[in-house]
Amino acid sequence: MAEQSGSQKPGIVIVGAMGRMGQMLCKTVMENDNARLAGAVERSGNAAIGQDIGTAMGGAAIGVTVTDDAAAAFAAADAVIDFTAPQATIAFSQLAAEAGIVHVIGTTGMSDDEIAQLSPAAAKTPIVRAGNMSLGVNLLVQLTKKVAAALDEDFDIEIIESHHHHKVDAPSGTALMLGEAAAEGRGVALDAVSDRARDGITGARKRGHIGFHAVRGGDIVGEHDVLFAAQGERIVLRHLATDRAIFARGAIKAALWGQGKAAGAYDMLDVLGL
Ligand code: NAD
Repeated sequence: MAEQSGSQKPGIVIVGAMGRMGQMLCKTVMENDNARLAGAVERSGNAAIGQDIGTAMGGAAIGVTVTDDAAAAFAAADAVIDFTAPQATIAFSQLAAEAGIVHVIGTTGMSDDEIAQLSPAAAKTPIVRAGNMSLGVNLLVQLTKKVAAALDEDFDIEIIESHHHHKVDAPSGTALMLGEAAAEGRGVALDAVSDRARDGITGARKRGHIGFHAVRGGDIVGEHDVLFAAQGERIVLRHLATDRAIFARGAIKAALWGQGKAAGAYDMLDVLGL
């Protein structure tokens, strides 16, 4: 495990530190030789507040106490990684801007209005936001855009995603990223062609529309298919995530990439140079 006290390495705070992704992020930062865990934040009332994050996660103490004072934690850090919930993420963006630290946002399910509320913070500090932080999915986004641009509307596009039964939003942030990429490839606005959750007598499929389907069950980490279906042939682009560590590694890469960058809103395509 990498030394957490070395002050020369960028310090990263994890908010929502006791969540599924939060714990994976804490562990992945602790193992990273180029970063140190500078803080662990949870919401007031969480049972882990006041405990060492290492012991709260069932391991050895590492000298970082879980706190609900995000402002103090941010003041002593270079970046914050945030996989929490939309309203929490908006509040954290203001605190990150005040502290002048990079804000990496993995939170999904944000409405357009909620995303717009991040803009004042993005004017003051770098924000990297992506519905999926993995290299594989960001490659899939680019492939989807290219394939959608190459094929005409004889190919019906459907996006099928599967996740564990705890997930609270649908379609997934990744499915929406893939839908945006397909729409962009076709030169149309996703809102104008999106078909969500068909049910009942829906009528025949509309030419040029992009359909979304959400499967929820068990412990599925995250699976996405982009289906291009025409008469007599189908193309399926598929990404299977089997380990949450891929999202954590991408988020840390983004936090390190953001050091010294100009204020602004970025995504993983910027970080990965895709
Ligand atoms: P989770 O419910 O296990 O964890 C969320 C954590 O955030 C909880 O510990 C909760 O207490 C904490 N939290 C909520 N509000 C808070 C606040 N105001 N202050 C401090 N902590 C707060 O959920 P999860 O499965 O870890 O997913 C979290 C988010 O990350 C979801 O939106 C999910 O879709 C998204 N996600 C994104 C990616 C990606 O690559 N972008 C990958 C996986 C999950």
